[in-house]
Order: sequence, then C-alpha cells, then structure tokens
Amino acid sequence: MPSVLITGANRGLGLEFCRQYADAGWKVIACCRNPAQAEALNALRQSHDFVQIEALDVADFGQIDDLSKTLLDASIDVLINNAGVYDDQRGNGFGQLDYQAWQHSLLINTLAPVKMAESFSPQIKRSGKKLIVNISSLMGSLADNGSGGSILYRSSKAALNASMKSLSIDLMNQNIGVLILHPGWVQTDMGGANALIDSKTSVSGMRAVIDGFTLAQSGAFIKYDGTPMPW
Ligand code: NDP
Repeated sequence: MPSVLITGANRGLGLEFCRQYADAGWKVIACCRNPAQAEALNALRQSHDFVQIEALDVADFGQIDDLSKTLLDASIDVLINNAGVYDDQRGNGFGQLDYQAWQHSLLINTLAPVKMAESFSPQIKRSGKKLIVNISSLMGSLADNGSGGSILYRSSKAALNASMKSLSIDLMNQNIGVLILHPGWVQTDMGGANALIDSKTSVSGMRAVIDGFTLAQSGAFIKYDGTPMPW
C-alpha cells in the first residue's frame, strides 16, 4: 500500500489531499498542529482504516525530528510539504515591513519544507515512489511578478523553489525525486472565496501530476493542470 505524509493536513488543500489519497486506498499520515481540534480529519479517520493523525508544528524542528524517530520504520512514498502561511497582511509593504513576520514566513514556507525533507529522507528512501512534493505558488515566480507587493510571501516561495531545485540535483543519485507545484488560485482560507477553483479540482490535478512523475522531471515547477510554470 503506497503511503503519503502531508503537513498542514487539517484544512484547505492539505485536508483535501488526505481525503483523496484515503479514498484512493493510500496510507495517509496526516500531520497538523492540533489533532484534538481537527474535526474533519478525525471524521476521515473514522471512515478510513489507514489514516493516521500526528501532531506536528513545522515551526518546531525538534518536533519534526521526534516525529521522524517515531516513524523510523515507516516507508513514505510521497512527502507533501503543504503547510504554508501568507503573512503579508501583518506588514503593509515597503516602508512598513514587519521583519519578524518575514522571518516567520521564511521559517514556515522555506526552511520547514527543507527540514522535513532532511528528517524524513530515510523513510522516503526506502519507499517505492521516493518523491518530495512542495506546494509552492505562482507568487514565487520572479518572471510572473508584474504587480509587486507581497514581499514576505513571494520571497519565501521563491526561496522554497530555489532550495528544492538544489535538492532535486543533490538527491538524484539516491533516486529521490522533487516536485514543485502551483496549486492554482484555490478557494481555501488562504485563497479566499473569490478564488478561481475549488480544492477538489486543484488536488485531483496535482495528484495526476504526482502519479505521472518520473525522475527525469525532478526539480520541475508545474501547475496543478500539468503545465510548466515560469521561474
Ligand atoms: P490554508 O490557510 O487554508 O491552510 C494552511 C494550512 O497550513 C493549515 O492546515 C495550517 O494549520 C497549516 N500551517 C500553518 N502554519 C503551520 C505550522 N507552523 N505547522 C503546521 N501547519 C501549519 O491554506 P491553503 O490550504 O490554501 O494552502 C496550502 C498551501 O498551498 C500553502 O503552502 C499555500 O502557500 C499554497 N498555496 C495556496 C494557494 C491558494 O490559492 N489557496 C495558492 C498558491 C499556493 P492551522 O490550521 O493549524 O493553522
């Protein structure tokens, strides 16, 4: 049975990934900050035998290492670094930037995905699929930035892309693949109600990209519908 570990699994895209992989018969390791309050995830576990919920705040690297030790014998086919934050509303752009909020964005959106990849590489290495998936954003694209603003979020996703591109090269000789995905503009708490697509459409598209992944694509930046993204 293939297995997937998902961060930020209690709502939004993370929860939809859990639902779709559980329905497809995968073992799902759903990580979230507050399992006791994760009602939708707990309901999913009631109806699916192979959903396991683990407490994980990705800001706490000690917790990441502890969870990796707890899951030492597990095999993880696909790690999905999904947890993310949009902190720009806390600062108001140039002249009033909130540098603490920027550090927080970098911690959650850039450093934590790399730390997850490092800590869980033994479990990924022993799996069949051996794939690290990162939920990035079009807003991390330098080529696409024609409107400015959102410095915290844009820089944290651009740095995620740069880091994961390097990992894709560094891990190639271990046959570990790396994918960088743009989920589209999606109706979640982060995307808001006016977003263009729902989480079902976004996640089913990203799952198709993940299913079709071959090592030759490692390091690619791809939209949920399979089209290449501008760097
Ligand atoms: P949501 O705001 O709906 O959900 C964010 C998730 O991240 C929540 O589960 C949240 O947990 C979790 N999270 C935040 N901080 C931490 C932390 N320190 N430790 C663990 N989990 C944490 O966002 P989306 O579902 O929309 O976003 C998912 C990913 O997709 C993000 O990386 C985002 O940047 C990206 N994305 C989204 C787009 C959109 O239009 N929605 C567009 C482009 C990219 P909690 O409930 O505990 O806060």
